[in-house]
Amino acid sequence: MTTQTTSQAPTTRGTPVTFDHVNKRFGRTQVLHDICLEVPGGQTTCVVGPSGSGKSTLLRCTNRLEEPDEGRVLLGDTDVTDRSADIDAVRARIGMVFQTFNLFPYRTALDNITLALRRVRKLPAEEAAERARTHLASVGLAGLEHRRPGQLSGGQQQRVAIARALAMEPEVMLFDEATSALDPELVKGVLSIMRDLAGQGMTMIVVTHEMRFAQEAAGQVVFLDHGRLIEKAGPDKFFGAPESPRLQAFLSAVT
Ligand code: ADP
Ligand code: MG
Repeated sequence: MTTQTTSQAPTTRGTPVTFDHVNKRFGRTQVLHDICLEVPGGQTTCVVGPSGSGKSTLLRCTNRLEEPDEGRVLLGDTDVTDRSADIDAVRARIGMVFQTFNLFPYRTALDNITLALRRVRKLPAEEAAERARTHLASVGLAGLEHRRPGQLSGGQQQRVAIARALAMEPEVMLFDEATSALDPELVKGVLSIMRDLAGQGMTMIVVTHEMRFAQEAAGQVVFLDHGRLIEKAGPDKFFGAPESPRLQAFLSAVT
């Protein structure tokens, strides 16, 4: 799917993601308990919850950075958890953005983006560079393509990471606390790019502590606690009329 603001047909429905009775243990610790969740295509699903509640693990089950012990994860019609699934093909359909950017420190912003385009997508150098420039411009970084990560602010680095993921033209974007490592004044710029992306109909699963972002950009918000999906609702209900005492307590602590 394209991420250009102008070329996105409003009728496009993105790829849905389905978690079907997902269980995950690390040793004897069960970190995901029977998670069932529909992530509708073309919408943003925000996942919130206390530290250690299993948010990252859930996200990582989507592209099999973690393998569920039981249950299935579907990307569209593809069973990601099927042992015979072509995992490289699955990962090529999913972009992921981490708290810590994970850029190559000795490569320029441009090279960080062209690398996978050339190696994985097999684009010729010029075409890869052209696409990278387009995506850098779309996250407000035109002109900074030759800087290395160390010569960019945290917010700019995260925007390079987002541009890198988008340049691969994924069907689904995963964000794991993408703004948690940023200085407060840099958070806004990254969130506004994520908000634009949500508005363009990208399927997104966003683990975040930014409750205002969830309120404004999410189609649904999910609360995890101790590896259980406790509550799921549209943002108005989730924040305005939370049902479970645990979610009520969480929200009054963080908002
Ligand atoms: P969150 O992202 O909500 O903070 P995580 O998904 O990172 O939570 O972790 C959930 C639980 O699983 C935590 O108790 C954490 O310590 C544990 N955990 C996460 N990854 C591993 C791992 N690779 N090995 C063992 N335990 C892990
Ligand atoms: Mg986490």
